[in-house]
Amino acid sequence: MGVYVVFLLIALMVSLLAVAVMRTLHLRMVKKALLSQSQALLPPFDLELAAAHLQQLVRVPTVSHAHAEEDSVPDFSRFRQVIRDLYPRIHTHLIQRVLGESNLVYIWQGADLQLESVLLTAHQDVVPAGDTSSWTHQPFSGDITEGFVWGRGSFDDKGQLVAILEAIETLLATGFVPKRTIWIAFGCDEEVRGQKGAKLIASTLAAEGHRFAFVLDEGGAVVEGFIPGVHRPVAVVGIAEKGNLDLKLISSRDGGHSSTPKNPTSLGKLAAAVSRIEQRQAPGRLTLPVRKLFIALGYESSFPLAVVFLNLWLFTPLLKLILSHNSTTNAMLRDTHAATMAIGSEASNVISQESSAVVNFRLLPGSTEKDILRWTRKRIKDDSMQLEPQAFSTPSRVTDPDQPPFHMIERAITAVFPTAITAPYLMLGGTDAHWYEQVSSQVYRFTPALMDQNELSRMHNADERFSLDNLRRAIEFYIHLMTSQ
Ligand SMILES: [Zn+2]
Repeated sequence: MGVYVVFLLIALMVSLLAVAVMRTLHLRMVKKALLSQSQALLPPFDLELAAAHLQQLVRVPTVSHAHAEEDSVPDFSRFRQVIRDLYPRIHTHLIQRVLGESNLVYIWQGADLQLESVLLTAHQDVVPAGDTSSWTHQPFSGDITEGFVWGRGSFDDKGQLVAILEAIETLLATGFVPKRTIWIAFGCDEEVRGQKGAKLIASTLAAEGHRFAFVLDEGGAVVEGFIPGVHRPVAVVGIAEKGNLDLKLISSRDGGHSSTPKNPTSLGKLAAAVSRIEQRQAPGRLTLPVRKLFIALGYESSFPLAVVFLNLWLFTPLLKLILSHNSTTNAMLRDTHAATMAIGSEASNVISQESSAVVNFRLLPGSTEKDILRWTRKRIKDDSMQLEPQAFSTPSRVTDPDQPPFHMIERAITAVFPTAITAPYLMLGGTDAHWYEQVSSQVYRFTPALMDQNELSRMHNADERFSLDNLRRAIEFYIHLMTSQ
């Protein structure tokens, strides 16, 4: 009897695996048949001149600050003036609006007013340069050398902003009129969460009753070598982004002199609570963007991985196990937490009455502030600990990528990056994009540029740069996108 059961189990496992393998072969064949290359002829543009334009815009230090009153309004006005001087056709043919103090909106009227408009966005602001002595080229020099434009904001996000403007200026020179009306929005404070930038733009457009077929903001790029077993570049298009919660833990006990302590102190209790949080991870779950990412990779990865990625009905537990082993992929899988700030007393011989720490949580789509509070409360096992939510931004909605706008973006990507696999994904960091959920159900996050580990390490860091190759690709991408509406 026992032998039969074992035999049956083995037979069942073999058949499941056979089904998974057959399914994989079939799905990959169907996908290949669906792929068609579109190679339209592009109008010519002057890349050197575009780089010089980016240089001029990098030279204006449009730094945004957590305390908005520190922002230099004259610099943003100057930035606007430089754009006006560099792109005369745009300022003749498009309607320009300034929303709030420093936000820029352009409207390029389409030929068919019955069609819904599209909205392309980028941000004007940059993070501070930090320690300028660690830069090879001064952060606001915009030096052009070795095939790069160097400087703060050259990649994030003025390269993208310039690419949008160059594409329009180029198309205007040919007399082109887009089918749909194209809106452009450049927020002024993405780096500090978009409160007076994208939030204001989006709520103004919503109040005026505008709806968009899709919104495309900065986001994922074309990455190489990030996923083992996938040898082609992958263009990751964000269809959602994680939320953020700063949770303050406050521990209160008797204070006093450290020579006569009564342990545990408020700081000791706080440390124990933080330690208990760190010992456990929130449970993992495969959200739609992550499922979609791995299914897209399954069409192009090595065959054993394809069997796993294309048969998540069978291999979800195995995939979760694989993703847990790397901090980036692990963050795609669960709500994460990191203890980042702590305060005790101000002197070594004083026991503080109150100690506090901040734990930064990043929430998967679907997770709520309540879920995090419940989980934390359960973990710390200390009812005397106060939990005080501070800054909170809810996880974004998830855009359904099985819709025409995603395929439109995919076609523009394939035209410029012919060897890349286009895949939906979950952004781990935040962008302005979530503000635009109120004006479109199709919100995407993509920066049309190649990004490797080297370029990634320069983001928000010293020696940020944007290659001329990337600038060319970004301009081409937007020309494709604007001409294929
Ligand atoms: Zn950015």
